[in-house]
Order: sequence, then structure tokens, then C-alpha cells
Amino acid sequence: MRLSGWHIGAWCGCLLIGVVHSVYAQQTTTPPDTVAKPAAAVAQDTTGLPKTPTQAAPGETKEQDKADFPLDNFYAERKKWPLSFLRHFRFSLSTGYGSTFFSHELPGYGIYQAPGGSPQIFPGTSTTTRYSNWVNERVLDVTAADPSAFLVSSDTASLGFKGGGWSIPLKATIHFEFMQRYRIGIGYSYELFNMGEFSATSFGDRIGTMQPTNASGSISRFFGMAGVSFYRSGPYLFTGDIQVGSFSPSNFDAALATTGVYFNGGVTIERDLSEYLRAFVRPSFEFKSYTLNLPEGGSPIDHGMNAVYLNFGLTYRIPELPKCFHKDCRIQRNHAHGDREYRSRVHPIYKKQNPNYGENHPNLIKYKGKNKKMLNPY
Ligand SMILES: [Zn+2]
Repeated sequence: MRLSGWHIGAWCGCLLIGVVHSVYAQQTTTPPDTVAKPAAAVAQDTTGLPKTPTQAAPGETKEQDKADFPLDNFYAERKKWPLSFLRHFRFSLSTGYGSTFFSHELPGYGIYQAPGGSPQIFPGTSTTTRYSNWVNERVLDVTAADPSAFLVSSDTASLGFKGGGWSIPLKATIHFEFMQRYRIGIGYSYELFNMGEFSATSFGDRIGTMQPTNASGSISRFFGMAGVSFYRSGPYLFTGDIQVGSFSPSNFDAALATTGVYFNGGVTIERDLSEYLRAFVRPSFEFKSYTLNLPEGGSPIDHGMNAVYLNFGLTYRIPELPKCFHKDCRIQRNHAHGDREYRSRVHPIYKKQNPNYGENHPNLIKYKGKNKKMLNPY
């Protein structure tokens, strides 16, 4: 085939146009050296936007600092939900068991032990006024004293009683967690409470046991709390915390008994079940005391009422995202529709999820017990 000069010129023109066009279309890649000459002015522009050679001034650095591709034009910016700060609040509910240690001394009192009866105390040296209960309420006994009773005075011995009790608490708290380490909060607790027998700390062989009247009741309390997380091992988080507040037992004579502030210190061991739910146990020790006034004479009696507790329960955090509104959506992780982010519809609140892809079904069915015949490959 014979090529004329016109044919060659037209072919070279088409080649030039094609090369320039392809350089325009591939701005984000480095232009090959072979086309550097005709596209030299264009190659300086790395912003990704096609420009005519006259626009691509060499000193245009502001444009070059931007991202290579303007994603803002294609993806909606996510708007925050107004209540997203709620993620820092956690609610807990717990129950457990508590053991209370009562103890008191009886300065200025004597102990009266009639044969076959329960011990009583009397102020000073006169046995005409005696108390058969001086622990949670006052029970007065003004019957004539038995002359054969065993008597011991606190002038000659250190007198006192010890007793025990148990309680079943139901405790609710709300606390705020910050800096991934600290927490402060408030709480309320209601406990079923029962007092056992009291026995003398001295002369136990001569003095019998005393069972307080009205021994069963409840204790309600309000408290503030503060804690510091000090150790984490996998899903387990250890937090030392204190709870300080007031307590009022229902079976104590409110007119005579004055309760003080109590201090409860413990370690909360939490296990993450999911990002919203934790299970925890909390062993704790508690210091508290109260004073019972006996108006018929004698000084007020100070009672120690320390206790140990073991609480266990759940801690829940309000999800900061609302549940996805789309009833057919099966996405297992937090995701966006439009400009809003949503929580998965299929994520059970108690189940741990990988935040990157979710893991509602971490074990294949073929490894589960329900596939005993090994028929299901999944
Ligand atoms: Zn969805």
C-alpha cells in the first residue's frame, strides 16, 4: 500500500490527539516518559482535575495539598445524633449476699442473767430498770429482779456483745465513665435484712444469748460512688471503687437509733459481654455504725455494724446509635443509611461483635452440637 504525504500527516495528527487525550484521562498516574514532551505543562498538575495548560501554574500548592479525589462530592457527611453522649453512662443492677458483724461494748452498764432467761442490761448499779433489747430498739423490763440472777458490772469487766446478720441486696447504680479509667455515680440499694443471736464477749459461760426483737426488716440506702479501673485482661476489667452514703434499717427504732455515714470499698470485676453489656461481681467490705439512745438512764450505746458483701449483676450502656429503621437490613455492624449512622438490627445486645464486620455467628454450624450427623457443611 502506498502512503501519500497527506496520509502520513493525518495519521500523525490523530496519534498526537490520542496521546494528549489519554494523558488528560489518566492524570492520577504518572505520565509515561514518551509523552512527556507534548503534555509537559499538563503533567505538573497532580490535583486530578483536568486543566488547560494555562491554568496549571507552577506555584499552585494549595490545590495540591488536597486529597487526590474529592470524595465529599460522592459520600454524604455523617451527622451526629444529639444523644451520643449517653454512651458514657452505664446502669447496673445487682444482687448478692451480705454478712453483717454486729458488735458493741457496754461501758456504764451491767449484765443481768436470770436463770433460764435471756440476758438483760441495766444502767449503773440498779437492776430495777433493765433492757431485754438494746440493739435495734429498746425493750424495757421493770419487773422485780430475781435475786438469784447472775450480775456483772462493767466496772469489774469489759462487757459487750457480738452478733451476726445476713442480707440480700438489690442495688441499682448509674455512673459516668471518663478517660477510659475513672467513674463517678450514684446509687440506691434495698436489702432484705435479718439479725441473728447475740452472745456476750466475756462471761460467755454464764451469760446466754439474746435474740433481738423485730429482727427482720430491710435496709434502704442512697450513696455516691467513685472508682478507678486499674487492670484489664482480655474481656475482664478490674476497678477499685468506694460507695459512701446513708442507710436506714426499717426494723430499727428511728426515734432512738442514729445512723451515720457508711463506707463500702470493693473491687468490681467486669466481663464484657458486648459493647453494651457487662457482667460483674463485686466483693466489698463495709464500715458502718449507729448509736442507740436509752432514755431511761445510761449512756448511748455505739454499735458497730460492719459487713462483707458479694454482689453480682449486669451493667448496661445505652447505645448511642438508634436501631436501623430498615426492616430487611441484615448488616451486623454499625452502618450508615444516607447521612446518619445506625446500629445493626440483627445484633443481640448481649453478644460480642467485632466492630469491623460483626460476628453474630462466630462458630460454623458444622462445629455445633446440633449438627451431630455432620451433614451441614456450614
Ligand atoms: Zn441498616
